[in-house]
This record gives sequence, structure tokens and C-alpha cells, in this order.
Amino acid sequence: MTLAGKKALVTGGSRGIGAAIAKTLAAEGADVAITYEKSKDLADAVVSGIKALGRFAVAIQADSADIAAIAASVDRAAAELGGLDILVNNAGIIRMNNLADIAIDDIQALLDINVRGPIVTSKSALSHLKEGGSIITVGSFFADRVPYGGLGVYAATKSALTAFSQGLARELGPKGITANIVQPGSIDTDMNPAHGPFGDPMRQLTASGRFGAGTEIGHAVAYLASDKARYVTGTMLTVDGGANA
Ligand code: NDP
Repeated sequence: MTLAGKKALVTGGSRGIGAAIAKTLAAEGADVAITYEKSKDLADAVVSGIKALGRFAVAIQADSADIAAIAASVDRAAAELGGLDILVNNAGIIRMNNLADIAIDDIQALLDINVRGPIVTSKSALSHLKEGGSIITVGSFFADRVPYGGLGVYAATKSALTAFSQGLARELGPKGITANIVQPGSIDTDMNPAHGPFGDPMRQLTASGRFGAGTEIGHAVAYLASDKARYVTGTMLTVDGGANA
């Protein structure tokens, strides 16, 4: 196990990629706190799954659009875990529409949850993280390439995270804390179901001819959080089945 004794917070850990990251970190030995917005039952199930692995776990309701809730959730996670070594900024939403038609509320929600959320969560985590810590932010392969219309605002939120994470790496490097982005490609979740209306076109973008599984993102995150990756910072690890090849 590569993360024995580490304490991790995963935002948006009730479903999809975040749930898979939380379980993968626990399988590697970490104690894990997750946040969620609405899915209490699913969050509780993730906690039960982690406890079954013999690790500590706690679920915290916190809307990533709510600055006060974010700060409180990070402090509570650190208190319940007994510290914080790993922050995974995963919670995110997608709203697809051409710029002419996208609602201002949707633009605001994308900016609040996908950009301000990870920034404020990271800011709140700074007082808890120490040497050997890591911040891993879930971006998207759409940060590098936007293959369809209707994705521009979402893609902009994800490319903003790249610049943010690089700046964070510069600030935290002297403290021995790393900051990296994991850029998933098409991962089979509620947000991007493999057999939904966009399943075939998204599959055709890949070199692998398939959607990825959340655990395939979890393994990338676990590597970046581990002591094996102490010299890896300020970078992007794209896990997209070759979609950007
Ligand atoms: P899902 O929609 O399947 O799950 C989203 C998770 O984020 C849930 O746990 C949800 O909590 C939580 N969440 C959403 N909004 C909020 C909020 N306002 N406050 C707190 N938690 C929130 O998404 P995915 O698992 O597919 O995506 C996870 C991340 O990966 C996102 O950042 C997404 O942009 C990114 N990504 C996904 C890809 C994919 O193909 N699936 C590809 C590239 C990037 P709740 O259950 O309570 O609603």
C-alpha cells in the first residue's frame, strides 16, 4: 500500500469519479473524507465501503458553490481525519450549450463550482497541509482540445484549473507540497454515461475504443499522492484512452 497513514479529502465523492478515487485511496491505505451536495445515501455507501477496507471514512455535506460551506468542510475533514495530507478537487458539473443559448445561471454555476470551488477548497486546505502533502485537481481532456461545440464554457473552467494548479505548484514547491492536475477522458459516470446519447461519439474519439472506469482515474490520483511522485508537480496527467493523441 502506497498511502498508508495518509489522510485524504475528496470533494464530490458520493458518485462517479470521486467515489472511485476515494475508494482507491482507501485501498492504498489512506483514511478518507468525502464531500457531497445532495446524495447523502450514496455518500454513506461510499463511507461504508471504505470502512469495510478497515480505513476511517466520513461524509460531509458541502456545496462547492458555497464558500463558507467549503471552508467548514475542509476544517471538519482535517479534524475528523486527524490531519490532512491529500486534497483531491474533484467535484464538478457540466452544462452543454452553444454560447448563444447557454443561460447566464449555467455559466455562473460552472464558474462557481468548477473554478472557484477548487480554488477556495485549496486555499482552505493550506493551513492543514504540510511537507509531503499533495493537491490533485480533476481537470478534463477538454482543457487541451475541444472537439465539439457547446463545450466552450465547461472547457474554459477546466483549462483555468491547469493555470491555477501550475501557480499553486510554484507556491507550494518550497514547502514540499505538490500540485497536479489529472485530466480524465470519457469516464463512465452519471455525467458522461457510456451508453448515453454522447456515448458513441465520445468512444470514437478514443484510441482505446472504450470509456474509462473511475478506478483508472483513481490509480492516477493515488500515484500523484504517493511518495513515488514527490518530484512530480505542476504537471498534467491525461488519462483519456488516447482521445487527445
Ligand atoms: P458525476 O456527475 O457523476 O458526479 C459528480 C460528483 O460531484 C458527485 O459526487 C456530486 O455530488 C458532486 N458535486 C456536484 N456538484 C457539487 C456541488 N455543488 N457541491 C459538492 N459536490 C458536488 O460526475 P463525474 O464523476 O463524471 O465527474 C467528476 C469530475 O470529473 C468533475 O470535475 C468532472 O468535470 C470531471 N470529468 C469527468 C469526465 C467524465 O467523462 N465523467 C471527463 C472529464 C472530467 P452529489 O452526488 O451530492 O450530487
